[in-house]
Amino acid sequence: MLMWNRKYAAEITADNDGEHVSIAGWVHEKRDLGGVFFLIVRDLSGFAQITLHKGVVEKELFERVKKVPRESVVAIEGRVKSEPKAPNGYEIIPERMEVLNEASQILPLDTTGKVGAELDTRLDARFMDLRTERTKHIFIIRSRVLKAIRDFLDDLGFIEINTPKIVSAATEGGTALFPISYFEREAFLNQSPQLYKQILMASGFDRVYEIAPIFRAEEHDTTKHLNEATSVDIEVAFVSDKEVMVTLEELIAFVYSKVGDYPGLSKLNLKLDVPKIPFRRITYDEAIELLSEAGEEIEWGEDLSTSAEHTLGEIIGELYFITDWPCAIKPFYTQPAEKGKREDICNAFDLMHPKVELASGSQRVHSYELLKRKIESKGLSADSFEFYLDAFRFGMPPHAGWGLGVERLLMSMLEIDNIREVVLFPRDRRRLAP
Ligand code: ATP
Ligand code: MG
Repeated sequence: MLMWNRKYAAEITADNDGEHVSIAGWVHEKRDLGGVFFLIVRDLSGFAQITLHKGVVEKELFERVKKVPRESVVAIEGRVKSEPKAPNGYEIIPERMEVLNEASQILPLDTTGKVGAELDTRLDARFMDLRTERTKHIFIIRSRVLKAIRDFLDDLGFIEINTPKIVSAATEGGTALFPISYFEREAFLNQSPQLYKQILMASGFDRVYEIAPIFRAEEHDTTKHLNEATSVDIEVAFVSDKEVMVTLEELIAFVYSKVGDYPGLSKLNLKLDVPKIPFRRITYDEAIELLSEAGEEIEWGEDLSTSAEHTLGEIIGELYFITDWPCAIKPFYTQPAEKGKREDICNAFDLMHPKVELASGSQRVHSYELLKRKIESKGLSADSFEFYLDAFRFGMPPHAGWGLGVERLLMSMLEIDNIREVVLFPRDRRRLAP
């Protein structure tokens, strides 16, 4: 059956009454009322009702349609008839139908959403889970988010880059890496494009961004960590942390507005309010002060635990930045505060959603000597960073940037508790297939 002239269910309306159409999709539901048989066919756009009247359609077709298992793939040709009670206000009276591929009788999941399933079951049969309305819309929204991010950054004159994911050295030490065998040597999957996007600042590429996987060999099994995540990274020359914070909050507001316009959002029972910019900014010192008032004691210089993040989120209740972090808990490439300020404080920031960290960024060290000293003071060997340090010896401008987790942004925006829901095929401590 030639399907180039195929229409999506949602492209047809009662106004097409009398027209001849072809549609194709999956058998979503079957309803046998004796003399009449309804077949609900689902495609990417929605649903179409196929109505067969016994004695009117040819007997052989009637019997074939009755027998086809749910979720089989079918193609149908027929006439559109206005029918106010059917989805989209029309039904199709079939003339020809072909079963392109029959589904097995016992399905791993119910695609109508009437019977719920555990997340693990859904992820095991992800191809089928994606046939449910809710899951489908999550991934259409994910695609819109990525497009909005690209549109926003492209308009600001950014250049999209691709940096290697197979690397020889850790980005910043600390975080566990996945080792891989690279011919006769050991290599790693990159945990962040940090070093490469910084090297590009010495090339005259003033504004770059990358949207790509980051690999973190973290053992912990939480609802906000993946072992393979997607990061939006930007790096900008001749600016400080303050400017890239503005870019970040404007980008977030832009993404919210683009997703807010999406009609499929109603399938997630959500109404998105575009967050007001500028976001609130509190310093690390103010954060531990607020925590202490709430009965949660954090020693100065300690990182904020998940529980501390939640407490702060409850107090603040909206998107906010934490700035002026102790250098000791930020990576070596983070620029210390200007002269005259406390030198144990760095020009670093985190963007926080009340429930989870969304992004980390900073002004970067651009002095070769300082950078080398900071690498060594973290107990790392400057030799293994030679390829990176070289770029700082021949004209490196001041620069700043951030990394934003795509999945963290999506889960927080869509009020989804488990990060795995917003990844097609998540990689976690136990999951390596599908
Ligand atoms: P966290 O403290 O929440 O584990 P992090 O501070 O270690 O995150 P960064 O190195 O700052 O993470 O990475 C920048 C951003 O990338 C994070 O703010 C987050 O949005 C995202 N990200 C980092 N690690 C993960 C992960 N394992 N799973 C999902 N997203 C991640
Ligand atoms: Mg961080």
